Amino acid sequence: MKGLPAETDFVVIGAGIAGLRAAIELAAAGRVLVLAKKEVTDPNALEMQAIAALSDEDEVTLHLQDTLSAGDGLCDPAAVKILIEEAPGRIEELIAWATQFDRGGTKLVFGRESATSRNRSLHAQGDSTGREILRTLYAKAHSLKHISVAPFEFSTGLLTDAGRITGVSLIDDKGVPQEVACSAVLLATGGMGQLYRNTTNPELATGDGVAIAFRAGAEVSDMEFVQFHPTALYMRKVPRFLLSEALRSEGAYLRNIEMDRFLGKYHPMGELAPHDVVARAIIHEMEVSRAKDPFVYLDLTHLAAAKVQKRFPRIYATCMQHNVDITEDLIPVRPAAHYAMGGVRTDLNGKTNVSGLYAAGETAATGVHGANRLPSNSLLEGVVYGARAGKAMREELRAAPTTSRQPKTAYSNGPVDPGVEDLIGQIQDLMWNEVGIVRMRTGMQKAIKSLEEMAPKLAHPKTRRAHEAANLHLAGLLVTRSALAREESRGAHYRIDCPDHDDKKFLKHSVIRGDKVVFV
Ligand SMILES: Cc1cc2nc3c(=O)[nH]c(=O)nc-3n(C[C@H](O)[C@H](O)[C@H](O)COP(=O)(O)OP(=O)(O)OC[C@H]3O[C@@H](n4cnc5c(N)ncnc54)[C@H](O)[C@@H]3O)c2cc1C
Repeated sequence: MKGLPAETDFVVIGAGIAGLRAAIELAAAGRVLVLAKKEVTDPNALEMQAIAALSDEDEVTLHLQDTLSAGDGLCDPAAVKILIEEAPGRIEELIAWATQFDRGGTKLVFGRESATSRNRSLHAQGDSTGREILRTLYAKAHSLKHISVAPFEFSTGLLTDAGRITGVSLIDDKGVPQEVACSAVLLATGGMGQLYRNTTNPELATGDGVAIAFRAGAEVSDMEFVQFHPTALYMRKVPRFLLSEALRSEGAYLRNIEMDRFLGKYHPMGELAPHDVVARAIIHEMEVSRAKDPFVYLDLTHLAAAKVQKRFPRIYATCMQHNVDITEDLIPVRPAAHYAMGGVRTDLNGKTNVSGLYAAGETAATGVHGANRLPSNSLLEGVVYGARAGKAMREELRAAPTTSRQPKTAYSNGPVDPGVEDLIGQIQDLMWNEVGIVRMRTGMQKAIKSLEEMAPKLAHPKTRRAHEAANLHLAGLLVTRSALAREESRGAHYRIDCPDHDDKKFLKHSVIRGDKVVFV
């Protein structure tokens, strides 16, 4: 598109699955500007393998039960019911828009993920499901004349007037600050895995939506619940490529460096135990190994090589690039931060407490995932709740206010500032060491103190990367404050100093309002 408009009807920040699905819904009501901070099909962001749906052998009640069990008492049942009941319609819609899910003959093939009682995940080209859905949604959005998608436009904040959203501020692709006025804004900026030293998330997952919303007065919820994926490829100087739970569903074993299968000691479901149990078991095995550079192995060598290659073509090819043939070699793995269950607090239609502000996808806390996410539910959440937020936002349509559009000092889009990179590294180490898979009061207090000391250095960001650093810093504080306040262990939040549930006090959502953490 040629330049950004001074005003539009709706702004969607984020061109992932949630943002694009919402934009398609909004296009019937007015002009939609979709902003992405990188290219739309950022190849890093496309490793998603499976989307939950309803197979013939499945039932709504079983999917509901699996989701509620994974959420460890904190899912909002109404939100989960909506997710599951609206799934078939959203999947049919994707198929009608030409998503090619894998089939056996004419029938859709459903796979099984960990902690699920039935085969209910659809795949596309084996393990390129996210890529295929994003391709479809982008093509659909592109075909609608009211939607403009603007890549490399970095949103820095929200404009408000008398408590109502009136537009967004951003740094455009040339490094120039801009403002775009609009009736309503949807935040669909994805996750915040970059808070941690080890993460499966792409570079863009810096918690921008949560930070932007919080600064504008939005409540955030359940921030302490960060899911750590148990098995990311662990090799020095190699990105933490995700080795999907589907590998374990297909029969892969986890072995410690003594070559023992160990998960049976930790959970009756063994390799199919919930993510957090597997991640903690691996951390424990790594600790007892006393290795300087610890890891465990994922073992597929007993499975039929041709089947593994066919079912996991991208995982096979990626590991081969690093000289690991997954059909013959053991794969070194470690856990890595993977998914944020919490985020900007919304109602069942994506609405936040700030008038005119909505959130959907991983940025939002709809109550669907509770204290831990069931695999494959997040892509589904993107399409179901993206569509719902889009529908609700249509009602916000009103004359957009005009913005000043005064020329402002240009920002720098580069080069890399070593000072900023150093601060990001410090945040990632602090979060990994003190607010990671196993937490404890003293460590978290130390993390808060260090983060607060760092604040002045991040107060006046001058580049996009400095904005990301400030967003990570704020997201880190929000995660740590919530984790410190929740004096129990639940779902993905594990505290060694309070290892049990405390239902009496904490069978509730944490909500941060300004400087207070409350449980509601
Ligand atoms: C490796 C990996 C594998 C996964 N596998 C699965 C799976 O198999 N099944 C499943 O259900 N889930 C999976 N997930 C989780 C799932 O992929 C995500 O939760 C989901 O893609 C999030 O979608 P989204 O639309 O919320 O955000 P994203 O797809 O992350 O999109 C975020 C968008 O926001 C834009 N953005 C961010 N900040 C700004 C800013 N400041 N200004 C402008 N634009 C901005 C980005 O450019 C991007 O376009 C996986 C995640 C990872 C990392």
